[in-house]
Order: sequence, then C-alpha cells, then structure tokens
Amino acid sequence: MKLSIFGTGYVGLVTGACLADVGHDVICVDINQSKIDSLKQGGIPIYEPGLENVVKTNVAQGNLRFTTSAEEAVQHAEVIFIAVGTPPDEDGSADLQYVMAVGKTIGQLMTNYKVVVNKSTVPVGTADKVTAVIQQALLERNCAAEFDVVSNPEFLKEGAAVADFMRPDRIVIGTSSDFAEGIMREVYAPFNRNHEKIIVMDVRSSELSKYAANCMLATKISFMNEMANIAERVGADIENVRKGIGSDPRIGYHFIYAGCGYGGSCFPKDVQALAQTAKQYGYEPGILDAVEAVNHRQKQKLFELICTHYGVDTAKAGVKDCLKGKVFAVWGLAFKPNTDDMREAPSRVLIEQLWAAGATVQAYDPEAMEETQRIYGSTDKLALTGTKESALKGADALVICTEWKSFKTLNADILAGNMKEMLVFDGRNLFDVARMRDQGVKYYSIGRPALC
Ligand code: NAD
Repeated sequence: MKLSIFGTGYVGLVTGACLADVGHDVICVDINQSKIDSLKQGGIPIYEPGLENVVKTNVAQGNLRFTTSAEEAVQHAEVIFIAVGTPPDEDGSADLQYVMAVGKTIGQLMTNYKVVVNKSTVPVGTADKVTAVIQQALLERNCAAEFDVVSNPEFLKEGAAVADFMRPDRIVIGTSSDFAEGIMREVYAPFNRNHEKIIVMDVRSSELSKYAANCMLATKISFMNEMANIAERVGADIENVRKGIGSDPRIGYHFIYAGCGYGGSCFPKDVQALAQTAKQYGYEPGILDAVEAVNHRQKQKLFELICTHYGVDTAKAGVKDCLKGKVFAVWGLAFKPNTDDMREAPSRVLIEQLWAAGATVQAYDPEAMEETQRIYGSTDKLALTGTKESALKGADALVICTEWKSFKTLNADILAGNMKEMLVFDGRNLFDVARMRDQGVKYYSIGRPALC
C-alpha cells in the first residue's frame, strides 16, 4: 500500500521504517530540513536499537523515501499518518498546533479519498477537530474529496521501539467507518498474522486508551515511589516489598520499580494532559494529580539524599552554594536506558540542582552525550567524559540516574582508585545493599536502608 508519515521523530521514523519493512511503499515527510537531509544521506537522527538497519535496508530496496514536500507525501498516499509532536501547553494540556497544521496541509493538498490516521497522542475529541480542519480546507478549495480520520495510538516504548512496532501487544484502531477499518486492517495485516491483535473501537475510546495506558504505568511508578518513601521511614526495604507484592499475579512484577522518578516525552506530559482534559469536563482527577505530584517530588530525591549526607539543611541555609566545590560523577543522562532521549529526564533535575548548589558535574551516558551537549552547550560546570570510569576521576560522589546495563556491576577498586571516597547515590537501586556494605561503599538508594 502507499503510505505517508508526517513527522520523522521517534514514532514517525519507526512507524515509517517498520511499515516499509513489511512491503508498504512509504514516504516520510518532515518540516525539519536538516533532519530530512541527514536521513537522505543515511544518517539516523535518534538512537533506537535496530532502527538504522531497518531504515537502510528499506531505503536501499526503494520502499522508504524522505522528503520535506508535503505535496509529494499527500499525493503519494492512500493512508496518511500524523506522527508529529503534541508537547504540553502552559497549563499542561496537549498543544495540538502541529497536528492541526498537518490536518490543514492535507486538506489543502488532497485530491482523492484518504484515510488520515492520528498516531500522535491526542486528547479525546481531536479526531473531530482534525476532521473539521480538513473539511474547512477542502471547502476553501471547493474540493469534494472524501476522507476518514482514524485514531490509531502508538504504544511503542523508546529503547525497544522497533521490536514493539514489529511485535505489538495490540493495535488499537478507533473508527466508525467500515471502509476505513478495512483499509487499516490491510495496513496492519503483516503484524496480525499469528493471532488477532487488532482491537477496533469508537474514536473517543481509542484516543482515551492511549492516555489511560500511560497514566496507569505512571501510576504504578508513583505508587512504588510512595511505598519506597514509606519503607525508608519505617525501616523496610522496598526491593523486598517489590518481590513480596509482585508475586501476586494480580499485581505482577512489571513496572513496579522504585527510583528517582519517571521522565521522557510521554508519561509526564500525558498525565498532565489527561488531568487537564478531566478538569475541562468538570472532573477533579485526584489520582492523576497525585501521580504527578509524587513524581515531581521524587525527582528531587537524589539531591535531598546528597544534602542529607553532607548535613546541609537547605530549608535553613538555602540551596545556593550549599555544595560549593564538590564534584559529582553522574552515570546515566537519558530518561531511561537504550535511548538518547533526555526530555524530562530526572538527571536534568539533579544536575541543575547540583549546579545551583555550586557543585560541578562529570557525566557519562552510553548514548545521550550528544543530546546533553546540545541541551547544555559548553559550560565549565559540566564535563562529559568518554567512559563511566573517567567520570569518577577526583569525584566526591557517584550518582546513578539511569539503569543502563553497563552500570549494573560496580567495581569497588575502580571507585577507590578514582574517587575521593567511595560514596554512591543510586537512583535506580542497582546494587545489593549488603554487598555494598561488604565492599565498604557508603551507599544511598531509594526506599532502602542507607549505608552512611
Ligand atoms: P518528536 O518530537 O520526536 O518528532 C516529531 C516530529 O514531527 C519532528 O521531527 C518535527 O519536525 C515533525 N513535525 C512537526 N510539524 C510537522 C509538520 N507540519 N509536518 C511534518 N513534520 C512535522 O515526537 P515523537 O516522540 O515521535 O512523538 C510524536 C507523537 O507520538 C507525540 O504525540 C507523542 O506523544 C506520541 N508518542 C510518542 C512515543 C515516544 O516514545 N516518543 C510513544 C508513543 C506515542
């Protein structure tokens, strides 16, 4: 089938590449000229395991092309995916300007029937708005072309996006049009072979499903962080509690890890956006507000542990220069492992707090160094080091923000040989407390006894 994808970010590029990989004829279009130039020259603008290979193979086979020409993309396709960003507005609601701009462009350029697919995460009612903007643009051109707007939220995870797209748990399609449903079933048929994964529903339920999924996952994280904060106070160990509750199949082991808070481009914005939607409809979303508040507080957790260790009372003395002269090694900058995405990353909150406190940072991440450099530029408060070991040189303490696999073994000799003292603040509970004690490491983690 002939498909076009508007937006070549994490979702659009993965969608385009994976749909091309099963034999569709795909054009990816973006307004970012340099991104498209780079893609045309074989560059991959994001780090996503397996993506480069899928893109290169399909470009070589002629199934996948890149352009900045919306006209070319609209003319080419019978199915047009919208996969542009929906960042938070000032009040937390989803900013739909990019989605609506694409809708308008499609209405201005289409000449025959199209299925317009909303893959961006959008509030309930957006399909109606996209329908209205396309209709308006068609009216202005006196064009009678027909179309359907379908909701097809994306559930891929950054860091496993290609695998998730290729082997989805479910494919949600929101439409009331049998014709559009038939076309969408054809698009996804190659992913639906072994057993039925397609779930067709009304548009509004489909739009809400995406928010409900992300909010449920964010709720699990904030819930565990709340338990961790209670565990710490009552002298329990959240890792034992996790095993104790995860063994109940009604709860399960997935997504019940305590840590230094969730980040990324989805959970924070989607929790806030759904809360805003609820409020617009006159409902106070008590759970969603609490999930967001707990997460906000949890992102301060590592800094609080550091201040406690050094006996700094920020309530009395303020934050400014309270850690002046100290050097912190930070392992992990991306908001989670296997991505270079730094959006809303807990590491950023920590680093900025350390700077405000007069400290400097030596940081290492396996994939997010370039992105960190892009965000913070050159500053003498931040040294980006080539290895995790070199980040430790002369540091007062090590802080771990992301659970990359390569951080999961800690060699005490390397700590001792490089750092002023063996002092670790672990925001991801990577190590066994007893083992840290045996190795003589001063060790703080989340919801577990501290070794100070
Ligand atoms: P992104 O910011 O990585 O990419 C968006 C792209 O859209 C950018 O390259 C931008 O230049 C392009 N764009 C903006 N306006 C355009 C236009 N008029 N025409 C063509 N291109 C245009 O965003 P993302 O992370 O891929 O997210 C896209 C959507 O998917 C969001 O709604 C997000 O919530 C949702 N989503 C994201 C993920 C994820 O893990 N990142 C997962 C599921 C759903």
